[in-house]
Amino acid sequence: MANDAHPVYEVLALRFGTHDDRPARDNFLVDEGQFTPGSDMPMDFYLWVIRNDRHFLLVDTGFPEEMAERRGRTLFRDPVDALTDLGMTADEVSDVVITHMHYDHAGNLDRFPHARIHLQEDELRFCTGPAMRHRVVRKPFEPININTAVQGLFEDQLVLHSGQSEIIPGVTVHPVPGHTPGTQVVQVPTARGWVVLASDATHLWANIRLRSPFPILDHLTPMLEGYDRIEALADGDDHIIPGHDPQVALRFPQLPGSPGWFCLHEPVLDGIDAARTAGAAR
Ligand SMILES: [Zn+2]
Repeated sequence: MANDAHPVYEVLALRFGTHDDRPARDNFLVDEGQFTPGSDMPMDFYLWVIRNDRHFLLVDTGFPEEMAERRGRTLFRDPVDALTDLGMTADEVSDVVITHMHYDHAGNLDRFPHARIHLQEDELRFCTGPAMRHRVVRKPFEPININTAVQGLFEDQLVLHSGQSEIIPGVTVHPVPGHTPGTQVVQVPTARGWVVLASDATHLWANIRLRSPFPILDHLTPMLEGYDRIEALADGDDHIIPGHDPQVALRFPQLPGSPGWFCLHEPVLDGIDAARTAGAAR
């Protein structure tokens, strides 16, 4: 439990974009009847902020309009510009955790010139290695982000982690391979207990709760074992924050005066079946 040994933090999600008109079938590796045939199940895009009066930690950087247009995604607003809602600019951010190097999580990496970039070693190895010769594997990656990471390595901006590591007091990253070899999740002490930003270790609540993985993955068995790991790190099912679930924006209260930002450190709102996502059959 989060307790007096740790400071506690606010955890915010920014919903900055969406991919609607998306068949539910595209969100599960195996069709086990977990969605209504022919139904849609959109995916939203998020980044996250962990903050208190002493620290400000950004988790992932979203992606810019150019990538959104090229990939057929809808951007509600520029996610980096949205940091000004919280009184921050990209120049002022000192630390960024990149959960993995896919375009929708590391897409604005070059816009944080003064930040330490926290990445798992296995992720850098993967996205700079021979796996990228496979078109399907490299499709969610963008060379500009990988180049920025490598440039950061040469300029002491990139901080490589090999396993669990504390980024700011009480806030730790944990490797959960499967989606990519170097995917990491973030465990945060909050007033309501341990919250885990699971990013794409589980895209949707349905993926982890039904043990039904998302189809973009590098390695199936570690992904399934990662679900157990995430549950062990969190203080309950509602403390696990999936990477792309539209319900996140429905289940948590909005940050007053800041549309698009949601308070994950506060209890979930009632009235929504946790195991469902839009269009889910059960
Ligand atoms: Zn993603």
